[in-house]
Amino acid sequence: MNYKIYPINQGTRIMDIHDVVYRQPVGEDVSFAYGAFLLKDAKGKLIMVDSGAPSLSEVREKGYPLRTPDEDIDMVEEVRKHGVDPAEVSMIIYTHLHWDHAWNTNSFPNATLIAQAAEMAAAINPMKIGRKSYGFMEESNGPEWLHSIMRFQAVNGDVEILPGIRVIMTPGHTIGSQSVLVDTEKGVYMLPGDWIMCDRNLDMELPGGSTPDVAAWYQSLEKVKKLEFAGILPCHDPKTYTEMYYG
Ligand SMILES: [Zn+2]
Repeated sequence: MNYKIYPINQGTRIMDIHDVVYRQPVGEDVSFAYGAFLLKDAKGKLIMVDSGAPSLSEVREKGYPLRTPDEDIDMVEEVRKHGVDPAEVSMIIYTHLHWDHAWNTNSFPNATLIAQAAEMAAAINPMKIGRKSYGFMEESNGPEWLHSIMRFQAVNGDVEILPGIRVIMTPGHTIGSQSVLVDTEKGVYMLPGDWIMCDRNLDMELPGGSTPDVAAWYQSLEKVKKLEFAGILPCHDPKTYTEMYYG
């Protein structure tokens, strides 16, 4: 089964290069995008890869101090602009469960939610360094995805999710990060989540600035270098959002 991949941008902000490429000298501004992906097949099946960040007002209210988009773009409204009723989305596949990827879960009330078992375990009992990234804020009610826990299905390792959609483990940014491989008319695209934040991580073979397990990241890189893709679409790279769709 082939899909078309629609990147859905939720705004950008300026970050320093060392946040995006590990240990690069500070001082270069880079544009950092936020977003998720909508997959559509020819029969109208609708799947999301990640579900985006909270709105900017919610970010401020609940005290997210880091990496908030500068524009207040609502992910669910953006999905509607693609002619899609969020209630018709049948599945959300999470690359990982950080707050900027796994919010808005209850706006997709009929979706089965897929994540790696290792990621779910890490996300409910994060290391101190990961608590805010996973949405444990004093002002918040905890990670939003947890309130939809009944709809989750955990997967283990490299598996086919549906015909035309596979996941492979690519840890490094988080313990249970997975990349989503999507069949399209033009070949297989990889949606890497945050283990690839921007093209430069691949071009320079350097991980993103927030990579707690650098050794695992390089193992993920060696694994992925053996595979061939029509394209790799990092969700934090503004370039990803310059096309209306892929495939
Ligand atoms: Zn992210």
